[in-house]
Amino acid sequence: MKVVIIGGGIGGMTTAILLKNAGFKVCICEKETGIPARGNAFLMHAEGLDIIESLNPTPNKLQLPGKMIDSFMLKRPNDTTVKYQKLNPWQCIKRSDLIAFLYSLMPKENILSNRAFSHFQYDSNNIAVAAVFENGEIEYGDVFIGSDGAYSAVRNHLFGTTTFTPVEVKEFVGVATCPELVQQHPNLFKKFLSKEKGLSFGYIPTSDTELVWFMQFDVSLVQHKENTECMKEISNLLLKDFPADVQSILQQNDFNTTYTWNTRDFDLLPSFHKNNVVLIGDAAHLALPFTSAGTTNALKDALAITRLLATKETPEKAFEAFYAERAPEVKEHTLLGRDLKYKFLHPEVDNDDDIKIPLIEKQLPIEKTRPVYKKVHVLYFTDPVCSTCWLIQPQLRRLKLEYGDYLEIEYCMGGLLPSWENFNRGGISNPAEAAENWRQAALQNEMPINPDIWLYNPLPSSYPPSIAFKAAQMQDTDKSIIFLRRINEMLFLESKNIIENVLLHNAAYDAGLDAARLMRDLEGKAQQLFEADLELARELQISILPTFIFTDKFNNSTVLKGFQQYDAFENTLISFIPFAKKKTIKRDMEALFKVFPTLTTKEFSFLADVDIVTAEELLTSLFKDGTILQQVNNRSGIIWKLNPNWFQ
Ligand SMILES: Cc1cc2nc3c(=O)[nH]c(=O)nc-3n(C[C@H](O)[C@H](O)[C@H](O)COP(=O)(O)OP(=O)(O)OC[C@H]3O[C@@H](n4cnc5c(N)ncnc54)[C@H](O)[C@@H]3O)c2cc1C
Repeated sequence: MKVVIIGGGIGGMTTAILLKNAGFKVCICEKETGIPARGNAFLMHAEGLDIIESLNPTPNKLQLPGKMIDSFMLKRPNDTTVKYQKLNPWQCIKRSDLIAFLYSLMPKENILSNRAFSHFQYDSNNIAVAAVFENGEIEYGDVFIGSDGAYSAVRNHLFGTTTFTPVEVKEFVGVATCPELVQQHPNLFKKFLSKEKGLSFGYIPTSDTELVWFMQFDVSLVQHKENTECMKEISNLLLKDFPADVQSILQQNDFNTTYTWNTRDFDLLPSFHKNNVVLIGDAAHLALPFTSAGTTNALKDALAITRLLATKETPEKAFEAFYAERAPEVKEHTLLGRDLKYKFLHPEVDNDDDIKIPLIEKQLPIEKTRPVYKKVHVLYFTDPVCSTCWLIQPQLRRLKLEYGDYLEIEYCMGGLLPSWENFNRGGISNPAEAAENWRQAALQNEMPINPDIWLYNPLPSSYPPSIAFKAAQMQDTDKSIIFLRRINEMLFLESKNIIENVLLHNAAYDAGLDAARLMRDLEGKAQQLFEADLELARELQISILPTFIFTDKFNNSTVLKGFQQYDAFENTLISFIPFAKKKTIKRDMEALFKVFPTLTTKEFSFLADVDIVTAEELLTSLFKDGTILQQVNNRSGIIWKLNPNWFQ
């Protein structure tokens, strides 16, 4: 079967390579002469990257172009930070680099340039037999794929003239050489968003020296004529009050190569095909740029159409299945793009906490097997400075792994140290006694614990990190536990004073939370939630930390106070659910680190069921071969974590 692809952009080229690799005869007809080099850059999601990487499975792999982006910062034009958060990695790629990469994977004789599509020739059954181009050339084929972009001539030919939504937002996109800015934040997507009007500016590194920038603006703000001078004038005018980094990008930018994007879309088409002609990519569906989904969607189309053409009995069946598979997702993106545009044009509707990261992430199903009928609720009273709560981590982590399906653990703050004034708890009434208590704990336990903080920089209270935990919990329950873990590591191993805002901010970022929002919430609702926890602790007369209150659905409860051996947890659970079955822990290192991003040697030994000496030897050898890293290594002990580059 011969497939004629009209449009050698990203979707068309990727489809051609995939079809060729699957044994199809392919020919690409592109209207430009030579390799189309226009365009700036885009962000590509891991899903899209996987598809691109799969095109080139040979041992002499070509290096994918672009720069990895792993964090997002949203600011107001006055430089205040609204959002600062980790991203699952995206790749920022220059369009010309990606196109060149794709062209390098396709034999030259299969690419026919200077061919702008004009119309099809049909047989008596209305089946297209050839594509005719404006230069008079004709290409015969069995199947035709229209991948000629947003203003597709193939689409117009099949379905008549497209009705686009009006252009309410324009976007300028440029690439500028700004090595200093890139070096400051090599992997950051930084965006400024006005709170008063539809106006934003963002920039993303594309290499070690270059970045792509964009300015989106409400067209009612200025009169725009499509010429270089006007573009420069408008950019300088609208962005005049934006911070220094924005000004320096504008100064470095060459407006002759800056692209104006008249952002518009169209409603979902009733079909992506007619007989043996199908549309893919922007030709088939168009989302506004707010979603950053255009390129990834074109790649996903390429993958789907190749698979379906290779497996369905007829091209028509393949095209019907293609629509059924892809239409729901692209429709969702179109609607999301419109929603984001509305919010952009009406910035007053979103409060700071509700602003979404302007990227569509595939929502991976989170593994939460929580069969309701088996649930036992555990109210866990803890405190970020509670040493017993730290020492009990190996047991608690194992409990989650082996019996997590039966348990719902709710973290509550116990308010261990309001201040040192009149403090007397567990034989401790001042920082020196706390240091001695921790020193003894270090001698008796294999969990690392460093008493220095109480000697050299004692915390005046455990309330600030407890409130920070509540702020983390407001955002995401699972990530709040990672946050608590991180501040525990800072305190118990790194001797850091975790009342400091900068440490709380860093821990929030490390845990994947929006660090900027966490800082705002410290002053507001998180305090009330913390007060509510203290009230609950008073009501339940919690005097020892940790305290675990197990309750089943009939309201039977059992309370465990203080340090516990693993058997105590296990027996309590089994007393509620006699048929509870222990899950077999995957004891290999990778599986354990995937559940718990950092582990102490003691935790690893307890979870992997090996003695501490063996655990240490095993971890050290893995460290030597680069599989794992040491997050912390000091005289108190070591925290191990997986090397993120090792398991990609
Ligand atoms: C010049 C240009 C610059 C872009 N710049 C950016 C950017 O900076 N950032 C961003 O996020 N997205 C950009 N995009 C859009 C982005 O590349 C697409 O949304 C995405 O890659 C979808 O891919 P596609 O293959 O469907 O369409 P495209 O990648 O747009 O490819 C369409 C191809 O069809 C060709 N073509 C058009 N009409 C005809 C015709 N009549 N006959 C034959 N061939 C034809 C075009 O020359 C082009 O090569 C740009 C697109 C273009 C065309």
